[in-house]
Amino acid sequence: MLIKNIAALIIEAGQPYLRDAYLLIKEGLIAEVGSGPPPPSGADRVLDAGGKLVLPGFVNTHHHLCQTLTRAYPPVMDAPLFDWLRKLYPLWAKLDEEAIYLSSLVGMAELLLSGCTTTTDHHYVFTAKLKQAVDIQIEAAREIGMRFQPCRGSMSLGEREGGLPPQSLVQSEEEILQDSERLIERYHDPARAAPIRIALAPCSPFSVRPELMRETAKLARKYGVRLHTHLAETQDEERFCLERFGCRPVDYLEELGWLAADVWIAHGVYLNEEEIKRLGQAGVALAHCPSSNMRLGSGIAPIVALREQGVAVGLGVDGSASNDSSNMLLELRQALYLQRVIHGPAALKVQDVLEMATLGGARCLGREELGRLQVGQAADIALFDLGELNYSGAGDPLGALVLCGPTSVETLIVGGQVIVSEHRLQTIDLEKIKRRHREKAKKIQGDWL
Ligand SMILES: [Zn+2]
Repeated sequence: MLIKNIAALIIEAGQPYLRDAYLLIKEGLIAEVGSGPPPPSGADRVLDAGGKLVLPGFVNTHHHLCQTLTRAYPPVMDAPLFDWLRKLYPLWAKLDEEAIYLSSLVGMAELLLSGCTTTTDHHYVFTAKLKQAVDIQIEAAREIGMRFQPCRGSMSLGEREGGLPPQSLVQSEEEILQDSERLIERYHDPARAAPIRIALAPCSPFSVRPELMRETAKLARKYGVRLHTHLAETQDEERFCLERFGCRPVDYLEELGWLAADVWIAHGVYLNEEEIKRLGQAGVALAHCPSSNMRLGSGIAPIVALREQGVAVGLGVDGSASNDSSNMLLELRQALYLQRVIHGPAALKVQDVLEMATLGGARCLGREELGRLQVGQAADIALFDLGELNYSGAGDPLGALVLCGPTSVETLIVGGQVIVSEHRLQTIDLEKIKRRHREKAKKIQGDWL
């Protein structure tokens, strides 16, 4: 496939635009990129990208797709994290296989339409009627055509032992580890530009016992899969760690053997200077979720300092009950503005948030073949139409995208396949899925809708 006549293309965040550019795709990878007239290619499909901004597809580094069924749930619209969780657990206990399938498709559709080509998910709700949640999510990703690196999440510390989740939502550690190994053996594909990879992700300090953290790390390292968890999200979590483990969250992580380069954490709001340095030295990456942190009033993550200390920072939309959207373009904008609130307007530039949404995300997921449009990289490409109403009158193309407010992607390509064309998903009947999703949400949330 040849994309020609591109108004502006950014090969890699931080680099200047290529104007009047072209891009050639072969076998799912980028075969050639340059400016001026394209060389003869014999391409069997040619896209004209006149008036378009072409970027590497975004990488979403933290999500809970199932929460698209519990968005804007009235009892938790103003609640802090711990109350929010306590009131949502009983709803999530109602999730079944159909709920996982529908919520995954809806969340992925939103992500794709906002220019995101790769996502992770952190699913940690498993019940007697829902043992195969990750398998179903993978089925949904294949159907919709998204690159997917789901985490097998887990909860093993219930209320009875001083944890936050109800006993009905925790699993035995033996069962968690067995299922984690099953998923790795069945789905994990270490090949470059693989469509599916697995990661392991015990949920948080207040829902998992230290033993499971240690055993999960051992298992992940046996197979070379990445590790993920929530960390330092709220002051309540910090208090919990001090009371239960006698140390702060980063010390806890270190004690468990998790302060390492195969780990990415979500949030990292409450980190002191010394902890930020330790994360940087250890090579731990971080999923920054500004909308969720603002929505729950959790706090402002020290993103400027983390980046200064060499921590790879990616962006995450976080679960749809705390965002309550899965729009990556909105997340770029929120990330930019939130740091400016504390550090002034030069704290981050639009190219910095592009870096976080592309290369930073790729580093979180351990995917060096993603996040830039160089020859040999995965052909995961987002095309935005600069002729749209809210970009009218804008000078800088990337500035238009981030500052003027989000629209949907015009064309989206994942591994060389066109998944979105003229703002429409090509792979699923979205109207049909939305109808079923709304019905399911009604059953789970009750009579609010
Ligand atoms: Zn989360």
